[in-house]
Amino acid sequence: MTATEKRVFDDILASLEKRGSVFVVGCGDCATVLQTGGEFEVKEMSEALTGAGKTVTGWVVPEVSCKILDVKKLLRQNKEAVAAADAILVLACGAGVQAVSEAAESKPVVAGLDTIGQVDQFRLGQFYEWCSSCGECIVADYGGVCPITRCPKGQVHGPCGGANEGKCEVNPEEQCVWTLIYERAEKLGEEPVAIGAPYHEPRDHRKSSAPRQKVFEPRRGG
Ligand code: SF4
Ligand code: SF4
Repeated sequence: MTATEKRVFDDILASLEKRGSVFVVGCGDCATVLQTGGEFEVKEMSEALTGAGKTVTGWVVPEVSCKILDVKKLLRQNKEAVAAADAILVLACGAGVQAVSEAAESKPVVAGLDTIGQVDQFRLGQFYEWCSSCGECIVADYGGVCPITRCPKGQVHGPCGGANEGKCEVNPEEQCVWTLIYERAEKLGEEPVAIGAPYHEPRDHRKSSAPRQKVFEPRRGG
């Protein structure tokens, strides 16, 4: 899931300077779960914009805002409200903002959220970055716990030595990822060292350099 945070409202207003009317787009997927761009937040934003003297011509919450063709269709269905707006404000991740840009063609688009990364949901209201999309997954060598992402130093050959009572020296609130890796090894009944210190060839950083893409011929029938 893509994590987003609300931008400061005054910064949004600054981005909308000289734009009197606004159409608001949210996202029914990640931004709804993270309570940054669902229907509730879109309505809340519309009210705040109205209170700040803007005219809100309409709003929509696409099922998934980073699906360009679906967003295009929805904007077409709301073409009068979109045409009446000087700009579109998007409460979705950066991918969603750009999907709306692509779909809206000549209409200025403003991001209402900051995008902070990919997160796993641990439990309701708790989301953590456990994968940084490195493009070469070696997590199986660590019992399913990723040291590249969950260790602030990306220590893949063992702990840095700074852990205190199992806690990370960089984030003392959190367990050192190597504590988690060793605990996991115990649960799996494996030798920690077998999991903890595998040799890896240098990474191919081309796999994690932007812009990445995934283009393929989809199977017929899904
Ligand atoms: S090794 Fe870690 S960062 Fe790389 S793909 Fe696997 S989980 Fe993600
Ligand atoms: S204490 Fe552990 S998690 Fe924290 S930086 Fe060192 S190795 Fe990484």
